[in-house]
Amino acid sequence: MEQLMYFKDAKYRIDDIHLFRDITDENLQLIRNIIKDCPIVKARAGQIVLDANSSGSRLFIVLNGALGITKLNEDNNHIENSITQYLPGECVGEISVLDEEIHSATISALSDSDLLVIEAETLWQLIDQSNGVARNLLQLLSFRIRTANAQIRSRQKVGEFYRQLSMVDGLTGLHNRAWLNAQLPPMIEHAHVSGNPLSIILVDLDHFKRFNDEYGHLLGDDALQTAAKVLNAGLRPTDFAARYGGEEMIVILPGTTQKAAIGVAQRLCTRLSKTKVFPDAKKPLPHITGSFGVATLQAEQDFLQLISVADAALYRAKDAGRNQVAA
Ligand code: GH3
Ligand code: MG
Ligand code: MG
Repeated sequence: MEQLMYFKDAKYRIDDIHLFRDITDENLQLIRNIIKDCPIVKARAGQIVLDANSSGSRLFIVLNGALGITKLNEDNNHIENSITQYLPGECVGEISVLDEEIHSATISALSDSDLLVIEAETLWQLIDQSNGVARNLLQLLSFRIRTANAQIRSRQKVGEFYRQLSMVDGLTGLHNRAWLNAQLPPMIEHAHVSGNPLSIILVDLDHFKRFNDEYGHLLGDDALQTAAKVLNAGLRPTDFAARYGGEEMIVILPGTTQKAAIGVAQRLCTRLSKTKVFPDAKKPLPHITGSFGVATLQAEQDFLQLISVADAALYRAKDAGRNQVAA
């Protein structure tokens, strides 16, 4: 960076610098003396001021212009500027000066900027000589910690949002297969340990390929959503419904015996067959039906064994003519 002048020759006011705010006149004179030989440099727009992963032994105070945190893309081209900006009066690089560690971010000039350069040795001298500078620096560090904590919290929230998103089926709003793989095994484990019954129902829509062929794929999607709603609405708060695959859904009934589960499946089967996919008077009103396979957890049975028993029951329901329950 090109050196412009020294601070003593510069037109900038010392009390515009945040680090030197609220300091007695006497102390300010002392500070002026310490920094008078600090150089002022010009950073051109786009030029890197602090490089992440390199160590820093100096602090930069923005006198004019603006700096910003720059994120590197995969090819190490500096393209993306974050919304964090450092405006006149603010400083960058103080943490690396204090702990002598590498910079945590790359900072570059967002526009042509004049920067006051304070070497580590000079900063320590300022801290030793002026309580005011030490106090301002502590306040700045507290601010940096709070900002970093807030960023961590917001990232955690975003992470949780995407985790939820990845567990929900986009079309039906039911839980998805990933959810099922994560949640059913511990429910099975819990049932084995507690001795409580657990049943599942596999549901497959009947002749759904034909439905798609006849009414189109979009209406097929509507039908899937309708079926998902029927299943969900017919369950207790402790039961779960998930989309198992294309037009297959699964219902999990904790604490439910086989007899009770067959009753639930029969109720769902009847409701589904009576539900219209779209109540539009100008078009014929298609109905959908489903076949239901019930399985109840047996001693020593695991996740896959339980599902395969339900699958076998589902095929018996299909073979017996569809729109019915088998166990
Ligand atoms: P069966 O009574 O024996 O179950 O006959 P089927 O036609 O339902 O069975 P098949 O497995 O042959 O076809 C399933 C159909 O479900 C084919 C596929 O296009 C459709 N399907 C799967 N997922 C979706 C989806 O997300 N939207 C729509 N519209 N259709 C889907
Ligand atoms: Mg199927
Ligand atoms: Mg089907």
